Amino acid sequence: MGAMEIGVMSSPRADGGNEFELVAKYGLRVTQFSIWNPARLTPEYAAKVKADAAATGVRIAAIWAGYSGPAKWNFIEGPATLGLVPPEYRAQRVQELKRAADFAAWCGVPAIISHCGFVPENPGDPLYAPTVAATREVAQHCLERGISFWFETGQETPVTLLRVIEDVALPNLGVNLDTANLILYGKANPLDALDVIGIYVRNLHAKDGLYPTNGRQLGKEVPIGKGKVNFRKIIARLHELGFTGDIIIEREIKGPQQVKDIQKAIRYLRRIIDRTLASKQGETKC
Ligand code: MG
Repeated sequence: MGAMEIGVMSSPRADGGNEFELVAKYGLRVTQFSIWNPARLTPEYAAKVKADAAATGVRIAAIWAGYSGPAKWNFIEGPATLGLVPPEYRAQRVQELKRAADFAAWCGVPAIISHCGFVPENPGDPLYAPTVAATREVAQHCLERGISFWFETGQETPVTLLRVIEDVALPNLGVNLDTANLILYGKANPLDALDVIGIYVRNLHAKDGLYPTNGRQLGKEVPIGKGKVNFRKIIARLHELGFTGDIIIEREIKGPQQVKDIQKAIRYLRRIIDRTLASKQGETKC
């Protein structure tokens, strides 16, 4: 535990084995545990997750909470399907995210994370105020359980996310900066985004990617070090901002290539973090 510890994403296994064995196999001791199926959010499963984490010595930095209903990761169907923005799924998803907060509290995990969706850039848009109200309801529920609510970046511009944070106006809000998403969605450069939302960043998804090349599909996710994310500058800037959260590797492919890419990413990020932490404050500016 401590400043900028490297971890990796994890999610429920189909075979009933220890959920964090794979995290430990990478030689890592921290994870975010991603649960998309709300039916899993039971006290019994929380007890298993807590026991599995203790058995492997893995700390769960946050529960990454998904929701029911369609989720289309593109610019055409995304606005009408993702997060708390679409009215037809909003009430159900508020209940599911509250349940995820209960689950996190049962596990002794300090935060939940989710995508709120394509929050409108125009604060006068009829979808804006109800999305803020729904987010506040979830965050308030988190607050009452002593946990935080962290926004996953990507579908909204950094300044819109900042406005949502100001309008929800609760003390337990933070940002999970997915370094690639702002690029994949063509919303911002993640380094520059730190000027806007940097003080709210609590955890990172270390991920890399390319900007969109057409108006319909997201940009392509690529292995860390092969895309547009300048990890050296982002980590230096976060260090300047006093960031002490975890850096959780996310590689959204499956199979042996995912394992190889994660192993490489660990070495790549560790070098950068070690150099950043070793350098004097003034020298980290670049
Ligand atoms: Mg992410």
